[in-house]
Order: sequence, then structure tokens, then C-alpha cells
Amino acid sequence: MDSLKNYDIDFVKLKFGQHSFDYEIDDSFFSVKDHSLVKQGNVNVHLLIDKKDRLMNFTFSIEGIVITECDVCLDSFDLPVKGTESIVIKIVEEPLESDGEIIYLGPNAVSFNVYDHIYEIICTNIPMTKTCKDNAGKPKACNPEMLKFLSEEDDTSTNFEQQTDPRWDKLKNIKE
Ligand SMILES: [Zn+2]
Repeated sequence: MDSLKNYDIDFVKLKFGQHSFDYEIDDSFFSVKDHSLVKQGNVNVHLLIDKKDRLMNFTFSIEGIVITECDVCLDSFDLPVKGTESIVIKIVEEPLESDGEIIYLGPNAVSFNVYDHIYEIICTNIPMTKTCKDNAGKPKACNPEMLKFLSEEDDTSTNFEQQTDPRWDKLKNIKE
């Protein structure tokens, strides 16, 4: 079982220079979050930390698949996700609010949790539109039964629209 704690980086213990961390994320990663957009997946995360005096660069590289729903037929399929993202962490006397790319921590901070960053990188790599064609490995055909069902649904809705509301007809007459 995965937990938030597994993503704590005790940076205070790290020497200056580069350090690598690897995570193999599976379904239990997503179950840590109450309302995760993603429920299932397998993603490899490589985190490279470059530690300097009062400054650290965190570079995340992710690659893997998440199981998601096709926008067309609603079948689930393996969507490939891949991306790189960097954040800068600065240790300052009086921490300011993070401006997105730079995170400020106070002088007493000893660790930093990267769970949310990894989660966000995965989610931002999910495209707005995704279909069975995007299936990892090879494109999948959409579920034919669902397509048939949906096209029948479409027909009924057009029929419904064709039965015009008499009030609309009246309005049309006014316009004309
Ligand atoms: Zn589909």
C-alpha cells in the first residue's frame, strides 16, 4: 500500500550535488488521494535533485500508462503518459507564497513531499480528448456495441428536436 510518507524527501540529509530517486507507481498511488481523477495506472517516475546552498532543483521525468475512459465509446484503455517538469525550491528566512515554479521553504524545513507534484504531472499529461486510438502499444477499435447504442441515442434525440414546440413556432412567426 502506497502512502504520502513514501514521497517525503528528507533533503536536509542530502549532500550538495545530484541525487536520484525512482518510484514505480501503481494503482495504490492514486488511492492515496480521496478524489483522484485517475484510479489505475503504472508509471515510472525518476526524480533528479540537484542540491546547492539554500537552493534545490527537482526534475521529474514520468513515463508509463494510466487507465482511462475513451471519450467516444467509454471503454477503458491504456493511455500513455510521458513528461518532464522542474521545480525550484529556495530556502529563505521568510518564506513567500509559491509562484508555481519556485517553492519557498523556511530555514527550519527538513523535508519536502513530492506526492502532489507527481500526481499533477501525471494529470497534466492526460490530453483533453482521448480515444481508443491512443491506446498504448497499438490503437484499439472503439466498442462497436457502444457505438451502435450511441448512434441510436442520437437518432432519438434528433427526432425529439424535430417535434418543434408550438411556442417556438409562434416566436419564429414574430421574428419573421
Ligand atoms: Zn473507444
